[in-house]
Amino acid sequence: MDKPQDVADDHFDLAVIGSGTGNSLIDERFAGMRVALIERGIFGGTCLNNGCIPTKMFVAPADYAIAPVEARRLGVDLQLRGVHFDRIRDRVFGRIDPIAEDGLRWRQVSDHVTVFEGVASFDDPHTVSINLHSGGRTRITADRFGVAHCFWRRLKKRMEPRSMRIRNTR
Ligand SMILES: Cc1cc2nc3c(=O)[nH]c(=O)nc-3n(C[C@H](O)[C@H](O)[C@H](O)COP(=O)(O)OP(=O)(O)OC[C@H]3O[C@@H](n4cnc5c(N)ncnc54)[C@H](O)[C@@H]3O)c2cc1C
Repeated sequence: MDKPQDVADDHFDLAVIGSGTGNSLIDERFAGMRVALIERGIFGGTCLNNGCIPTKMFVAPADYAIAPVEARRLGVDLQLRGVHFDRIRDRVFGRIDPIAEDGLRWRQVSDHVTVFEGVASFDDPHTVSINLHSGGRTRITADRFGVAHCFWRRLKKRMEPRSMRIRNTR
């Protein structure tokens, strides 16, 4: 028989949406609690997967690529014979992807954190629905929610300057 619409599948002490800074938020303070971590994209968030880290890793090859121009100014004749972008890309993501995968696996085997891979949306201040990537939809409730997304912070700053990042919803 189908579950009534207003009954959630599970209840957590804390639910965190976003696995960037959200993942590091879940430290020893929450060890005795049931925590849900919801991520719709690549585990680890923007900084690891398409922000700070990969951009900085592209800087070194870019510096080498423009070296002939700089060198010429100093009277040195260098020649650039080619830029193999596929090799540069593979080096960057060959390092980053395993970090994201290990991070996800580490959380998945945690005894107090449950990872949901899917898109979260609030039904009410206590309840989140998750469209799971594996198919289907689940609903969870939590005493507290952490919305760990940079755009949320910007939005919240504009809306409610003194807001807390983890809010009591009970
Ligand atoms: C190209 C680039 C370079 C950068 N370089 C630097 C730098 O050098 N130094 C620096 O300090 N900062 C840098 N930043 C900024 C930095 O990456 C962000 O400030 C930081 O990642 C924000 O962390 P966050 O946890 O708030 O959000 P994110 O890391 O973006 O994490 C939010 C996560 O939430 C998930 N999510 C969002 N909505 C939902 C939903 N409804 N359901 C489920 N999951 C959801 C997203 O998939 C995402 O993984 C850079 C950003 C970019 C784009």
